[in-house]
Amino acid sequence: MGDPRGFLKVRRKTSGYRPVEERINDYSEVEVRLPDEERRAQASRCMDCGVPFCHWACPVSNVMPEWQDRVFRGDWAGAWALLEDRNPFPEFTGRVCPALCEASCVLGSNDEPVTIRQNELAVIEKAFELGVVHKRPPKARNGKKVAIVGAGPAGLSAAYYLNRAGFLVTVYEGDRKAGGYLRYGIPDFKLDKSFIDRRIALMEAEGVIFRTGARVGSARYAFGTRGDGSEFVNPRALADSVDLILLTIGAREPRDLPVPGRELSGIVQALDFLSLQNRTLAGEKGAVKDAAPVTAYGKKVVVIGGGDTGADCVGTANRQGALTVTQIEVMPTPPEHRPASSPWPLWPTVLKTSSSHMEGGERLWAVNTKSFTGRAGVVEAIRCARVDWHLKDGRQTMTEIPGSEFELGTDLVLLAMGFTHVVQDGVVAELDLETDERGNIRTRGSFHTSNPKVWAAGDSRNGASLVVRAIADGRAAAEAMIRSL
Ligand SMILES: Cc1cc2nc3c(=O)[nH]c(=O)nc-3n(C[C@H](O)[C@H](O)[C@H](O)COP(=O)(O)OP(=O)(O)OC[C@H]3O[C@@H](n4cnc5c(N)ncnc54)[C@H](O)[C@@H]3O)c2cc1C
Ligand code: SF4
Repeated sequence: MGDPRGFLKVRRKTSGYRPVEERINDYSEVEVRLPDEERRAQASRCMDCGVPFCHWACPVSNVMPEWQDRVFRGDWAGAWALLEDRNPFPEFTGRVCPALCEASCVLGSNDEPVTIRQNELAVIEKAFELGVVHKRPPKARNGKKVAIVGAGPAGLSAAYYLNRAGFLVTVYEGDRKAGGYLRYGIPDFKLDKSFIDRRIALMEAEGVIFRTGARVGSARYAFGTRGDGSEFVNPRALADSVDLILLTIGAREPRDLPVPGRELSGIVQALDFLSLQNRTLAGEKGAVKDAAPVTAYGKKVVVIGGGDTGADCVGTANRQGALTVTQIEVMPTPPEHRPASSPWPLWPTVLKTSSSHMEGGERLWAVNTKSFTGRAGVVEAIRCARVDWHLKDGRQTMTEIPGSEFELGTDLVLLAMGFTHVVQDGVVAELDLETDERGNIRTRGSFHTSNPKVWAAGDSRNGASLVVRAIADGRAAAEAMIRSL
């Protein structure tokens, strides 16, 4: 441990963001970096507390105290070696992880936690800068072939480990490029896509084969022609051609809001809106499902859903030049500080004000959407009511407050209410897989599905979750597959 008294001398300092008036005009990453000396001082705050709860809370089991010490000493290569031993993609988690670890940092029990996520990002970017991250192909191939379906963080993580263990790995991805929601969900202002490209290039150099624009499934299940140039790969033929298949196809069916007026135009799923913006920035043409371009420019935008995807919509709508942006959420305002119901070291649900919220817009809590109204088939307003939440028979129950109805004028509604289960485009049915009560792929024991040749990992078996959990699941699935052979 570098400086045993570091936490007594140095206050927590986060990197901060570019000024609002600057960043609102572009889609470049909003978070800035601290100079190396300040970053090293931040790492010195780690107390090496003996029982590192941060390690327990991190899904990939990062060994934070050890690499904080290396950062403090300025040994960036050493810090990177320890970091990448547990986390194959710190450049993704360092940018978008909610930092489950920081909520469990022992220092955070009566002070402010170590800036673990930002320290992680500093380590990986410094490692790339110093040239210590380089390709490491397997020494020998073991003659076994694996097909991974879906190139989101779970599929990429599994491919990374299976390839290093000597398997010949081909990743089939229905979209134009690899990345899953990292590329086509999370906005560029949180994660610049060049960092995904950099990682994919490294994995290709190590021998992973990517077949993008290749959807494993059947045209029978697809809604109309795909129209984006992607080809269908027959799941059964694929299964016959390899030793094992791993499905990492995500939980991509969006939750809907079946209230009167839902059929009006101008009511759009958040992902269609966000994905279109990312594709536009990437210069992808003709790759969007809906022919009509969705833009917030000059519109009164209402985002339904108070979570992270909703916040991403707020940031994107503001950048596109929305007239007004209002985000509504049916749940009540979360507390500002850790509630008694989730004491340290548990993860608390607290009010989160993201960089997007700081850029403008209004947030309304405990508001239920009752119907949409419009003219000539186009949405014009949302009828809402305020609700009260209380415990009834041990469960949080919602009651509408009488006389609280009100109307919000709008010409673009973005539905950001989360995702439910895997999309049924043939792969699950064709491979005779069982699904669970939510519609996700059922796995037995570890990652094995009802088909002996097929395994599953990430959101497609767990339901919609986090990048770091998908990475952890992909790694664990790869380890289980390696053991099975
Ligand atoms: C807008 C948005 C913002 C988010 N922000 C964050 C955040 O800030 N932090 C965080 O931790 N998490 C965030 N998440 C959640 C996170 O991105 C997901 O939990 C994570 O990406 C899941 O990884 P996955 O690999 O299981 O699935 P996905 O990322 O969904 O990847 C699945 C891949 O499979 C492909 N695929 C599906 N079916 C087929 C098929 N039949 N054939 C071929 N390919 C197929 C898809 O095209 C996709 O590329 C966000 C999600 C969204 C939508
Ligand atoms: S991956 Fe997330 S939880 Fe794990 S150390 Fe990094 S920021 Fe913390």
